[in-house]
Amino acid sequence: MPRTLITGGAGFLGSHLCDRFIEEGHSVICMDNLITGDTENIEHLFELGQDRFRFVEYDVTDYLHVNGDLDYVLHFASPAAPDDYLEYPIQTLKVGALGTHKALGLAKAKDARLLLASTSEVYGDPLVHPQPEDYWGNVNPVGERGVYDEAKRFAEALAMAYHRYHGVETRIVRIFNTYGPRIRVDDGRALPTFMAQALRGEPLTVYGDGSQTRAFCYVDDLVEGIYRLLMSDVSDPVNLGNPDEITIKEFAEEIIEVTGSDSGITYEPLPADDPQVRQPDITKAKEHLDWTPQVDRREGLRRTLDYFRKQLGIPAPADGEVGSQP
Ligand code: UDP
Repeated sequence: MPRTLITGGAGFLGSHLCDRFIEEGHSVICMDNLITGDTENIEHLFELGQDRFRFVEYDVTDYLHVNGDLDYVLHFASPAAPDDYLEYPIQTLKVGALGTHKALGLAKAKDARLLLASTSEVYGDPLVHPQPEDYWGNVNPVGERGVYDEAKRFAEALAMAYHRYHGVETRIVRIFNTYGPRIRVDDGRALPTFMAQALRGEPLTVYGDGSQTRAFCYVDDLVEGIYRLLMSDVSDPVNLGNPDEITIKEFAEEIIEVTGSDSGITYEPLPADDPQVRQPDITKAKEHLDWTPQVDRREGLRRTLDYFRKQLGIPAPADGEVGSQP
């Protein structure tokens, strides 16, 4: 039975990966220090995964020891929402740098394959659009977002060095905006913020004039892509995301519509270094992994809406769920 360590396993993406690897028949060790993760995301796995699922509360930036063999290491530990990495700037730098070092060292010692969770943020405020993997990016290293961007850029460089120098099998996924159930309701990102505001009947806070763009990928699609990448032989970075680009203002309007809310929109100042555009070029994932996203945004939003209603304790409207009809 393959044995897999998932750091950040109690987070949004990490917990979906725990689900997937348990489903695939792996024995899974989920490691998380719970600064932004939550055991609520993995509670079901204690029963479902039975003796194949283990949770370890631990900070991956400390010396890392795992008993027994390991086949795969998925390094997903990191604050990942702008508000989180502004609140935990040092931890963000440490987990990207020191945490990746520990995870790679462990993979080397166990002869395991390591997959690094990188990010579209390595492209910064991009001057090339959409962003292909061979674009080197436009990052402000000393800006507030630099703590995340540079940590991930360093992590990629370290993974490539371990690959080239030590022959460690490494995979690098550059993850674009992803959403779905278990995204933290209060993590400050556009999607959870808008959805919670719409469901509470509060105005949606669009930053700047809302003309900046993003492209949102449903979590199940991302997990499928990550699984395919891990099992592939591609050691260079691969973008995964849904190329369906939308302005943030249109996105806010779409969430109002999908939730059936009568909220309006208010405008607030744009945060520093907020990328003006972002859209993945997924040619490489298509070619090498035969991967394209399957869930369109409205369908994904409807699925996510049920989760938000439960989290916020807001019942679906009695006369048919406005947002849940096909
Ligand atoms: N944003 C917004 N209102 C919010 C939160 C975010 O208009 O309440 C904007 C943010 O400035 C950015 C976009 O939505 O332009 C996406 O932000 P998010 O925090 O989701 O992640 P990012 O893509 O910037 O990492």
